[in-house]
Amino acid sequence: MLNVPIYLDNNATTPMDPRVLEAMLPYFNDKFGNAASRNHAFGWNAEEAVDYAREQVAKLINASPKEIIFTSGATESNNLALKGIFEMYARKGNHIITVNTEHKAVLDSCKHIEKLGGKVTYLEPAVDGLINLEDLEKAITPETIVISVMYGNNEIGVLQPIEEISAIARKHGILFHSDATQAVGKVPVDVQAQNIDLMSFTAHKMYGPKGVGALYVRRKNPRVKVTAQVDGGGHERGMRSGTLNVPGIVGFGKACELCMNEMEEEAKKLSKMRDRLEAELLKVEESYVNGSVEHRLPHVTNISFKHVEGEGLMMGIKDLAVSSGSACTSASLEPSYVLKNLGLDDDLAHSSLRFGLGRFTTDEEIDYAIDHVSKAVNKLRDMSPLWEMFKEGIDLKTVEWQEH
Ligand SMILES: *Cc1c(COP(=O)(O)O)cnc(C)c1O
Repeated sequence: MLNVPIYLDNNATTPMDPRVLEAMLPYFNDKFGNAASRNHAFGWNAEEAVDYAREQVAKLINASPKEIIFTSGATESNNLALKGIFEMYARKGNHIITVNTEHKAVLDSCKHIEKLGGKVTYLEPAVDGLINLEDLEKAITPETIVISVMYGNNEIGVLQPIEEISAIARKHGILFHSDATQAVGKVPVDVQAQNIDLMSFTAHKMYGPKGVGALYVRRKNPRVKVTAQVDGGGHERGMRSGTLNVPGIVGFGKACELCMNEMEEEAKKLSKMRDRLEAELLKVEESYVNGSVEHRLPHVTNISFKHVEGEGLMMGIKDLAVSSGSACTSASLEPSYVLKNLGLDDDLAHSSLRFGLGRFTTDEEIDYAIDHVSKAVNKLRDMSPLWEMFKEGIDLKTVEWQEH
C-alpha cells in the first residue's frame, strides 16, 4: 500500500536521512559541549566533531575546510555574502549584478543594499530561464563588486552557465557569488574548477537537518573577506559569531558525505523517474514544461496546464504534496514571480505545478502522481466553459467579456 500524502516537494525541504539523524543524536546529550570551550574534554569533543564535519562539507564542493563558514542556512549565507561584500568592498565600488529569478534571500538582500545607497542590476533571463552572457558583460561597470547568480533555480531547476559566468567575473576582477542551495549534493559542484568565490548552501535541501548551512568563502586567488553581519565572540574566522550548532553541523557533514558517495547513482535514478513523470504528464493536452529542459537539475520538473485554474488543480490533487505557482497556496497573492519573470502569462503561471523528486521517491509514487494529476486536469477541463471555447477554436484572448 502506498502511504499518502505523497511528498514531491523536495525543493522546499527534504526529509532527513536516518543515517544523518543517527550521527547527530549523541551531540544532543552525551556530547553536548560547546565547540568554543578550550579548557576541557567536553569542548574538545565538540570541536573535533565540528572539524570533521567541516572536512566532509568542504570535500563535497572541493574546498578547503578553512573556507567553510557555518551559518543557520542559505538565507543567512546569502545575506552574509551580499551585505558582507557590500560593506567589505565599499572602497572598490557599490554595484551588484544579479538576476530577477533569484531566491528572495538574494533579491531582498539586494533591496536592502539599495536602501543603503548601493546600485543593483537585475538581469532578465530568457524564457528558458537562462541568463544572456552578453547582457551580463554589458551590465558590468567600474563600480561592480560582485556578480550573484544562482546555480540551479528552486522553481524550475534551470542550471545557469556557472563556468562562463565565473570566467567573465574573473576577467573583470569581480567577485562571483552563487546561491547553490538546490545544486550542492544533487549535481557535481567544484568551487576550484568552476572558479566560484563565494557560495551559499544549506543542509535541509540535501537530507540534512534544518537550521544549518554554510557560506563558502575563497581564501586564495583571490583571498575574499566579508564583513560579519552577526557580531560577537569572533567564531568562524570572525565572519559569523555565535555558538556553533554542533548537532546540526554534524548532521550537515554526514549529509554531505552521503551525497558525495551516492549523488551520481541517485541523479541517474531520479532523472529517469522525472523524465517518465514529465513524458506522461505532457500527454495531457496543452501542457508545457517551464524553463530549459537541457540545462536542468535531474530531479525537478515544472509543468503548466493551460486553461486550468490553479487553486482547483491543487484541490484536485490533495494527496500529492507539490508546489504550485498559484497564489492560493503561497503566502503572497501574486503568482510565482519566477515564472512571471520568464515571461509567462498569469494564466500559465497560476496553473503550474513544481515536482521535486528526492532520495526516497518510489516508482509507485510517480505512477500515483501521473494518474492523479492527469485525472484532475481532465476533470477540471470537462467542467470548464473556457476549455470548451478553446476546443471550439475560439481564441480566448480576443473574447470580449461582458461586464456585470
Ligand atoms: C531553500 C532555499 C534558500 C533558503 O535556504 P534556508 O536554509 O531555508 O534559509 C535559498 N536559496 C535557494 C535557492 C533555496 O532553494
